Amino acid sequence: MKNSQTNPKPVGKALFLWLSTISLILLMIGVTALWYFISPRLHEFNEAFPFILLTGLRIFFLLLVIGSILVLFTAIFERNFIIAKFAAHMFIRIMYPVCVFLGPLIGIPEERIGESFVRVNDTFIRSLRKKFDPKETLVLLPHCLQDTSCTVRITVDPSNCKRCMRCDIGKVLDICDEYGVDVSIATGGTLARRIIIDKRPKVIIAVACYRDLVSGIRDAYPIMTLGVFNLRPNGPCINTHVNINILRKALESVVKRPVSSFENN
Ligand code: SF4
Repeated sequence: MKNSQTNPKPVGKALFLWLSTISLILLMIGVTALWYFISPRLHEFNEAFPFILLTGLRIFFLLLVIGSILVLFTAIFERNFIIAKFAAHMFIRIMYPVCVFLGPLIGIPEERIGESFVRVNDTFIRSLRKKFDPKETLVLLPHCLQDTSCTVRITVDPSNCKRCMRCDIGKVLDICDEYGVDVSIATGGTLARRIIIDKRPKVIIAVACYRDLVSGIRDAYPIMTLGVFNLRPNGPCINTHVNINILRKALESVVKRPVSSFENN
């Protein structure tokens, strides 16, 4: 089946958690070895400087270790552990680039690391158990979801979609109407960033491939971004699809359900 070729077996969050733990240990060993070689020269330079540098490094590593333990607890138990947000920050900013550097050296492709990272990031958001107002939520879609034969200009205004259901845009708009959340369609990272700056959401549910999700999550931080992988039965960037059930679950996990007109009466 074509789909299975372009969307291989999903990667869980364990890969990124293992890799980041190994990366952290290797990073500490590397920096300690470096310290061992350069410290005699630093002493010649200034007596106090090595002490200040070593103290700074110890504090940095201590925070990194505490952060990693909190992230592991958050990811495993799906509960928010005290400074888990801070730990998530460290993982997004520090551990991801380290993992992406080290992973391929031990034969793990960047794509699998990125996919696993997106799942760990989702765990952080879900573990906060926070529901946002629909008005604070943005569903961000890639333009490649639109059927290539469709001539409607949906990037300017998604409501231009006729909902003929030839592609998944119509289904996504239906479900977003149900939740009362705003939808935007971006043709690339630059436009996506501009949409986020203009709309200032508190939480984003982004549909994209792993590469765009990873860069989106890192660029949008501290705005929380829940990732939904698109399906690519026709290859990347052309007539892609999204699993509507997964999108619904993502909406359910972070958006307050609007009170229906039926309940109001
Ligand atoms: S649902 Fe129909 S009208 Fe809407 S974008 Fe897809 S093909 Fe075009």
